[in-house]
Amino acid sequence: ITIGVAGETASGERRVALTPETCRKLIARGARVRVQRGAGRQAAFTDEAYADAGAELVDDSTAALHEADVVLCVQPPTATTLQQLRDGTTLVGLLAPQSDSARGEAITARNLIAFPLERLPRTTRAQAMDVLSSQAGMAGYKAVLIAAQLAPRFFPMLTTAAGTIRPSKVLIVGAGVAGLQAIATAKRLGAQVEGFDVRPETREQIESLGGKFLDLGVSAAGEGGYARALTDEERAEQQRRLAEHLKGVDVVVCTAAVPGRPAPKIITTTMVAGMKPGSVIVDLAAETGGNCELTRPGETIESGGVTVAGPLNLASAGAVHASEMYARNVLNFVSLFVTDEASKEGRLAFDWNDELLAKTVWPERTAPT
Ligand code: NAD
Repeated sequence: ITIGVAGETASGERRVALTPETCRKLIARGARVRVQRGAGRQAAFTDEAYADAGAELVDDSTAALHEADVVLCVQPPTATTLQQLRDGTTLVGLLAPQSDSARGEAITARNLIAFPLERLPRTTRAQAMDVLSSQAGMAGYKAVLIAAQLAPRFFPMLTTAAGTIRPSKVLIVGAGVAGLQAIATAKRLGAQVEGFDVRPETREQIESLGGKFLDLGVSAAGEGGYARALTDEERAEQQRRLAEHLKGVDVVVCTAAVPGRPAPKIITTTMVAGMKPGSVIVDLAAETGGNCELTRPGETIESGGVTVAGPLNLASAGAVHASEMYARNVLNFVSLFVTDEASKEGRLAFDWNDELLAKTVWPERTAPT
């Protein structure tokens, strides 16, 4: 079995889907691994480290991909990348097949066995393969550091010869994977941290990290452990209570999302106008439109003395650890079909009765093939 990895080409993407560590493990299993030179450079993994792990280094992406049975990537493949693959290649990564119809059609037309990892069921067994969680953890961490950097104040309480500094009040909107990591990070920096979410079970999770649960009187648990969209009345209630509360907050980090929908608009322009000058909002939901009405994806703006940042692809900003986690997630997923026995025999062992494969593969397969 040949596994191929080319350098990521999306602008600002520093991560890589294979690290020397995971490369070594795949090779130990009998696989051959071809890596484009420089593929790991932006995540601080050198060509030498891949060579030491047993990879064959090749000069360009075509050489890395055209012989591969399995191709690993982080960002969705471009049209050029898709052209470089042989028909029937297995493709694993964040493939977003539905966000670009040309990409979706190319995947289908070429009979690729595509595993968009964003479709992986979030079951206990899948946790070790869950790239959404591992990458959200890095994003939540970085979002708080950006907020600390933009804020014109300390996060911790300080007692100094120049008087006492009160700790910053930090509010985390949404307490999923990114939000909980944001709470933990803000807490470590010494801030007074509050969080809220519409899933009631998050109260205990927020409190276990030393945060305070902000009760906005709305409970909207949806399917599969996710939130559902709020009704108009629920949204009005949430906004009424939040508007009042935001007047006393120094920093807001937004992480709220509802699967398959644009980010819920939670912080309105009027609410921002009511915030104290010098306050900071970092909107991690900028990728899907933002939780704040003023968010401009990829930009930092100021409105009435309030800074609103909409950073994109924050996981890439922590490329070393984000790649280590991503690559381990991918290795664990690929291990479902690159088994010891099968890879020695030069074949892939897809068990379509395994829900992790059957529910992740795109397009959906109704019958085992
Ligand atoms: P996500 O990125 O879809 O959403 C982030 C958070 O925003 C969620 O907690 C959601 O409840 C919240 N939210 C949505 N609308 C909101 C609103 N109007 N106001 C406030 N908050 C709002 O979610 P995620 O972080 O990927 O995961 C969320 C859930 O999935 C968690 O319960 C997590 O434990 C669970 N999960 C389970 C597994 C697993 O068992 N393998 C893996 C990952 C996540």
